[in-house]
Amino acid sequence: MIKIDFFPPDMVKEYEDQISEEIKRRNGNKNEIRFIPHMPKYTISIHDLLTADRSKILNTNGIKLYMFICSSQKYISQSNVELLRTLKSDFPQVHEIEHRNNNYKYRIYSTTYCTTCKDDTSPNNIITLVANIIKYKLALFDRNFAINYFNNAYIIRSISDLNSVLEQMFNEVNKELQDCTNNKKRFIDYSILSDKPDLRHKLMNSVGLRTCPYCNRNYITSYGEKSTADLDHFYQKKQYPLFALSLFNFVPSCSVCNSRMKNTYPADDALYPYEEGFEDDARFELKTTRKPYEKNFCESTVHLFQAIRDTKFDEFSLEIVTNPKTPPPKKKRIENSKKLFHLTEVYANHKRDALEAALRTRVYCEGSYKTSCDNLLKKLEESGMKMTASVDLEANMFADMIDYEWLMFGIFFNDEKRRYEKPLSKMIYDIYKSGKE
Ligand SMILES: [Zn+2]
Repeated sequence: MIKIDFFPPDMVKEYEDQISEEIKRRNGNKNEIRFIPHMPKYTISIHDLLTADRSKILNTNGIKLYMFICSSQKYISQSNVELLRTLKSDFPQVHEIEHRNNNYKYRIYSTTYCTTCKDDTSPNNIITLVANIIKYKLALFDRNFAINYFNNAYIIRSISDLNSVLEQMFNEVNKELQDCTNNKKRFIDYSILSDKPDLRHKLMNSVGLRTCPYCNRNYITSYGEKSTADLDHFYQKKQYPLFALSLFNFVPSCSVCNSRMKNTYPADDALYPYEEGFEDDARFELKTTRKPYEKNFCESTVHLFQAIRDTKFDEFSLEIVTNPKTPPPKKKRIENSKKLFHLTEVYANHKRDALEAALRTRVYCEGSYKTSCDNLLKKLEESGMKMTASVDLEANMFADMIDYEWLMFGIFFNDEKRRYEKPLSKMIYDIYKSGKE
């Protein structure tokens, strides 16, 4: 997961110019958008909705309420056990006591729910408590809104009762975005952009990315005016329709990450690439079950070499390890990103690349490679090529040539802007750093 730059200002302006008029027309020629039913005080301008960065959007009055309503759709469940399992990661009041071998036990405050049937849907007091904690959370954002939908939370006793309140809440919020000119459509509709393929491709190319920020495995490049990237909605447009056309919500990514991975698990609390990447908080580590790897340089180098030659990787594992000093909220986002994009599983296919990086690191750090580079540069200098600071061009050329890490690994480790422009470069960089330590 790589941190990336936001869209450049001229692109932001061009995007707004091309999209805002159509939204305004569908919104009854109004610039302000209302997004919570019965609550006219919550509005956002079309300008902000399209162009503001995430922190500004999150600080808009009512947006956190809106997002909680949208995300609460994940609590719509098929059974009591499924509901409690989903809730436990969001609400510390919900404790999972047991979840295995046909024994399921959960507790909220002093009420315990216990069943041997995973599919149990029978009414239970614990569902009433769940309805109340959801109501309480909503009330933290807006008390009146919470009362509107959960006034009688104490009579909600079954999964189906709770599901219907959650569904009603989401449906009514969606109705707020209904098109004035066509009741069957929403006025914030992704088709406004997808009908302009040139603009979509231009947007994706404008970020100047070369690899997918989510996986750093696949290239995303351009051909002619087009891009090989997908435009991912960080907050899925089905779940958060208000953000279907917001730039802050667009992340150019590879199609595997966009369509195959992200459909399975909500991204809400994963790393948001315009704000943070793995950095030093999560590093790739190559591990082996053989002890000498740590101790005996020669033996372990031979071990690496043999494994690559024979393509036998059983004695190695490649893990993404979180730094113990990383604050817990970021740790959680790292874990969510790993889970969302199946990073540990897809990187298991890159053990060979990791082993090669480890072997190169050893060869490089051992010194003989560096010595031969030094000798090469000396010979070039002796053969008449000047390397004086007064000739800028030549000096620059030599500055690149004596970047030994780049010569060895093909990656500009020392240039933060270019460090991750190649597939797998984060992994290779981490292995190189740990080999040097
Ligand atoms: Zn990807």
